[in-house]
Amino acid sequence: MTLRPAAVDTGITFLRTDVAPGTGLVPARWDRVVDTRMCTVIGNDHGVTIGTIEHLMAALRGCGVDNAVIELDGPEVPVMDGSSAPFVFLIDCVGIERQPARRSVIRVLDTVRVEDGPAWAMLSPDATTNLAFEIDFESAAIGRQSRVLRLTEDSFAEELARARTFGFVQDVERLRAAGLARGASLDNAIVVDGDTVLNPEGLRYPDEFVRHKMLDAVGDLHLAGHAIVGRYEGCRAGHAVTNRLLHALFAQPEAWRLERLSDAPATLSTTWSTVGDFRASA
Ligand SMILES: [Zn+2]
Repeated sequence: MTLRPAAVDTGITFLRTDVAPGTGLVPARWDRVVDTRMCTVIGNDHGVTIGTIEHLMAALRGCGVDNAVIELDGPEVPVMDGSSAPFVFLIDCVGIERQPARRSVIRVLDTVRVEDGPAWAMLSPDATTNLAFEIDFESAAIGRQSRVLRLTEDSFAEELARARTFGFVQDVERLRAAGLARGASLDNAIVVDGDTVLNPEGLRYPDEFVRHKMLDAVGDLHLAGHAIVGRYEGCRAGHAVTNRLLHALFAQPEAWRLERLSDAPATLSTTWSTVGDFRASA
């Protein structure tokens, strides 16, 4: 994977370098999402897809990156440790460059809500970007967890970035039987067996599970194309519900507006590449 700087107002764009020339470009946008069952997958009209984009998208949003090109030589963003922390670390290493322009954001003007059974998500007007999330699992290892956060570069790095994805051991076994999640391991996820966390190192935060769900929401919301200014609330919401929320928002032109702020947009100062090397040495 290689991350490159990009021009003002181009947003985040993925480029598959292992497919036929001219077919590999996929803008990281809510209307390019083609699958949300395991992770967030985007695709284009050529049938080229890119999976597991959400933790990288969260890192870009968390670090304040508005514009970037992400080159990949395969169909999936490297999962790393299942969190956004390795991406945040590498983005911090290359640095952020302010661009000579005014930053565009999406300001939420009216409440939009979607639900799917017990899961729901909502966007409503707010002066800054605020998040509230609640989960409720039968497993005593997780239980009911809720958290609120005002999203800033500092709060993302300190409170969300290190929270890892999680799964249940029976799901991992079922997915493996179906030929999926072959790379899933204790190195890239929290694995829960009944009421027990199997990872010998334990949790990184006492409520790492709800923090990771917030991280996912930050990444999936960055598919709006610009940072969203408003309040996001989610309850048991996953990738599908958050994507439906963006569809609902953009279906209501009176519920949002594109606004130019006085501060400058940001891209990467330079190019960084080969996450694989980082993983090998980590
Ligand atoms: Zn996730």
